[in-house]
Amino acid sequence: MALVVHKYGGTSVGNLEKIREVAKKVVTAHNAGDHVVVVVSAMAGETDRLLKMAHQISSEPDQRELDLLLSSGERISASLLAMAIQSMGYRAISFTGRQVGIITDSFHFRARIRKITADRLKEAIENGITPVVAGFQGISEMGDVTTLGRGGSDITAVALASALKAERCIIYKDDVDGVYTADPSVVPDARRLSKISYEEMLEMASLGAKVLQSRSVEFAAKFGVPILVKPTFGKGEGTLVTMEDEEMEEVLVSGIILDKNQAKLTVVGVPDRPGIAAEIFGKIAEEGVNVDMIIQNVSERGLTDISFTVPKSDAKRGLRTTKKLVSKIGAHDVKLDENIAKVSIVGVGMRSHSGAAAKMFAALSKENINIIMISTSEIKISCVVDSKYAEIAVRALHNTFNLGK
Ligand code: ADP
Ligand code: ASP
Ligand code: MG
Repeated sequence: MALVVHKYGGTSVGNLEKIREVAKKVVTAHNAGDHVVVVVSAMAGETDRLLKMAHQISSEPDQRELDLLLSSGERISASLLAMAIQSMGYRAISFTGRQVGIITDSFHFRARIRKITADRLKEAIENGITPVVAGFQGISEMGDVTTLGRGGSDITAVALASALKAERCIIYKDDVDGVYTADPSVVPDARRLSKISYEEMLEMASLGAKVLQSRSVEFAAKFGVPILVKPTFGKGEGTLVTMEDEEMEEVLVSGIILDKNQAKLTVVGVPDRPGIAAEIFGKIAEEGVNVDMIIQNVSERGLTDISFTVPKSDAKRGLRTTKKLVSKIGAHDVKLDENIAKVSIVGVGMRSHSGAAAKMFAALSKENINIIMISTSEIKISCVVDSKYAEIAVRALHNTFNLGK
């Protein structure tokens, strides 16, 4: 009998009808002889709804309270799914993160898993009962409920698969049937990849492809958990996220990613002397603002501009923090630009083949799109462009690298 983790995302459990269908799927796998451990997300839109209420009741909701609130979304779908399985005449039991011993650090809203005991899960499996675990949550060593970052049910699934030494971790989705060469809602002729390396998937997820949470991919790579992304209701083969092989290296670029969730801050007229960057980014880090790309212009008459990007949700805080520094460091001003987007190309083939950057810049220039910032790593190149041209840029790059159907 194989032990398998099934994870159903928010769209797959979006209403009661879908929950009944998922219950049938779980029962079918159980009848075929698998030990299924189920992990669920909150019903589609539920986490956003809870977040919105929190922000209506308080302008800066306390993070501990927020985590308790948000964790309830997954508890609703887990208990409903367990009831649906029971009403079909099978044994199921729902669990919260705490009940299955998911112990995390105390960083509310983005907690990291420290250890998993999973005793009650093992007991349920031994007794032939199907466990349904509320994803996205754990318990801190202080005993407070924590959540694992947006999209965090994915890491619950991967971490449980690893702790239980499951044969597979299947991430079921309703709106896409696998991992595509680009977001299919932006690029209509995007193609499903039959497999992708952990490293490429991690870059794609970190660069903003919503299909898998980046921490879950990091975890899977570290512990060698194979992830299969499959359609919940269709029959497709899906995408296997696994170790890199030679075939993957043959392809220069595997995916194009669009991230419209970035903003750019520019500190204008900064004195060009040692210690200034350390001062700015030290303060920014202290405030917990996440910095992505940084550029510093060539200085003229001892003054320079420093620009950097942050997630839109951190932009106002970043602006406030840097504004406070302006007079202290002798800079002129700080500007915030929220109309930017980051487009990136990813491929392990870039390690052994050259020319990807030149091809990327040429494709953007052909569309008359100005590049505002550039950053590269071994297997990715990102460009910041005006958000007006974001979709055009993604489609042009998808064509240039021959990724279409
Ligand atoms: P779930 O509800 O199952 O957690 P998500 O909404 O988190 O599903 O993830 C699927 C979404 O990710 C899709 O709506 C799709 O538009 C988006 N997406 C972005 N980039 C990609 C990609 N490269 N491949 C597949 N889907 C992508
Ligand atoms: N419900 C959470 C979110 O919307 C976690 C998840 O869906 O994986 O981010
Ligand atoms: Mg998701």
